[in-house]
Amino acid sequence: MDASIAKKYLRQHIELFGDEIYALINDNYIKTSNNSDSSHETLDSFKASIENCEKCSLSLTRNKFVFGAGDTNADLFLIGEGPGEEEDSKGEPFVGKAGKLLDKILKSIGYTRDDNVFIANIVKCRPPENRNPLSSEIAECTPYLIKQINLINPKLIVALGKVAGQTLLKENMLIKEMREKTYHYNAIPLIITYHPAALLRNPSLKVDVWEDFQYIRNFLKS
Ligand code: URA
Repeated sequence: MDASIAKKYLRQHIELFGDEIYALINDNYIKTSNNSDSSHETLDSFKASIENCEKCSLSLTRNKFVFGAGDTNADLFLIGEGPGEEEDSKGEPFVGKAGKLLDKILKSIGYTRDDNVFIANIVKCRPPENRNPLSSEIAECTPYLIKQINLINPKLIVALGKVAGQTLLKENMLIKEMREKTYHYNAIPLIITYHPAALLRNPSLKVDVWEDFQYIRNFLKS
């Protein structure tokens, strides 16, 4: 490996993981050693360390960095695509129309966004005009998501929509092909369902999402 690339890689690694060592094994970051006592690192301190991120050009157009929000001990980790206009102005995930629907879906299984649930996105800054995030933007931001998952250590990850599903599976599958299976992401069970914005466009999908969330409720109870 070229020395400057190795240096850049090491700098990113130290910035993200301190002196914990993660190896990319079968495309997943696996913690291989914990040389330091990293128990002092919290989600809040991690947020503070990345919220001024300028790794990609989304930082040039964002209003607010949307780290994610919820219960830091959550069993359920929900992952959307990226902030929209309202999220970008408030700095909170899923606070627009799709977010209101997500709140209702959570309520239907007895959950709320602040209790036992953490919500984040694949990319932390709004893509202009709500376009899909580019693969280069996703690649820069994914280590942040991995770190959040490691700090929270949820019982179940739920990817909302195609972008989140394809990113976590590293497959170009259709959402209907990704549903109704339990995968694993860095050893944590993962299921994939429709994005709430898709339900707003096509309410007939609500039945499938209702079934997926019944499964999620039962999974979390077990
Ligand atoms: N859509 C997403 O994917 N994430 C949000 O935070 C809001 C809308």
